Amino acid sequence: MNYNKKSVTDVDVNGKRVLIRCELNAPQDEHGNVTDATRIVTAVPTVKYLAENGAKVIIITHLGRPKGKVVPSLTVAPIAKEMEKYLGRPIKYVPDIVGEQAKKAVAELKDGEVMMLENIRFDPREEKCEPELSEALAQFGDIFVNEAFGTAHRAHCSTAGVANYLPGYAGFLMEAELDAFGKALTDPKRPFVGILGGSKVSDKIMAIENLLTVCDSIIIGGAMAYTFAKAKWGDIGDSRYEEDKIEYARQVLERAQKLHVPFYLPIDHVCADKFSPDADYIYVDGDHIPEGRMALDIGPKTVGLYTDVINKAKTIVWNGPMGVFEFDEFSKGTTAVAQALAENPGLTIVGGGDSTAAIKKAGVEDKITHISTGGGASLKLLEGAKLPGMACLLDK
Ligand code: ADP
Ligand code: MG
Repeated sequence: MNYNKKSVTDVDVNGKRVLIRCELNAPQDEHGNVTDATRIVTAVPTVKYLAENGAKVIIITHLGRPKGKVVPSLTVAPIAKEMEKYLGRPIKYVPDIVGEQAKKAVAELKDGEVMMLENIRFDPREEKCEPELSEALAQFGDIFVNEAFGTAHRAHCSTAGVANYLPGYAGFLMEAELDAFGKALTDPKRPFVGILGGSKVSDKIMAIENLLTVCDSIIIGGAMAYTFAKAKWGDIGDSRYEEDKIEYARQVLERAQKLHVPFYLPIDHVCADKFSPDADYIYVDGDHIPEGRMALDIGPKTVGLYTDVINKAKTIVWNGPMGVFEFDEFSKGTTAVAQALAENPGLTIVGGGDSTAAIKKAGVEDKITHISTGGGASLKLLEGAKLPGMACLLDK
């Protein structure tokens, strides 16, 4: 995929109608009050830039999973209200998507004004990427801006289809994602280290496959490590693993060897007697985790080994925690890896919902080059996949 895409700063937006797809899918309480405004706050700079530069801004977003039906509790009205606070200018919410009311509101919009269409997923055509809806949306704009990285792996009308009719540009958030992943995946400074962890091999099979072809070494942690460990030697006690992925894990280990890509697995483990934050635990060296014990974190020797590999790297991508970081006693391995990334002066990229939470828990989010805003979308990039919401934008 070409990561070099035109952005909002590559076009004169003054007087233009700009259709911008944002990712404003913010968590709300039962009264519709936004409980975490992160997604709204991070989308503000691009919208502000467009408005300040004289564009007529038409915001599109989805909220929740209405599955093509009008679900009154999933209206974007409270999202528009919340966003106004950070934008510092009014946002005209329209309870319509492409009907007469929306058409009228778009026609009345003046330069520098901002409006928001109703939840795009109220329309059953959105997720099917039906050309009729893409075309109707395109009528509202002179240009299309995609800022919704978190939905960029989906080919929907508002994320990709509309770009069949309008020139597409990246918003600032999208640009940052393109820039970071583009550098790492197409022209990395080496050594390039891929770190994969988390709960399941099956979630990350394609990412492992692709990273084996682009990275200089791979580090494995989390529960995923024990499917590999089982494939190698068998004694993993009661650690979590995937029986039906053992054969695959074996093949991966062989392939890594053939490709001469060092594939690091934990060499010691923090082993608990139960899956609980107050579990009793012991350190186990090497290859034999006793029955009745489950590995919930990488051990201190593994931390040392992984830190050495990370310290020598110039490019690092990380997806998936090293252990059950939600339990303080079992978060040390993940925190140490987060710390090593934070201290690395090279390009460091973190993707994945839980990995991002772990970085925040370690308090090092300011020291990571790029924390991706989309878990699913960033994993797709690591898989080497082409994201429809990125691919549809104009090449530079
Ligand atoms: P991300 O959201 O960053 O992609 P995942 O969802 O793949 O990460 O995995 C995160 C989950 O994996 C966490 O909830 C964590 O507790 C769990 N996990 C990590 N290591 C282990 C382990 N050794 N045993 C059980 N669960 C684990
Ligand atoms: Mg997760």
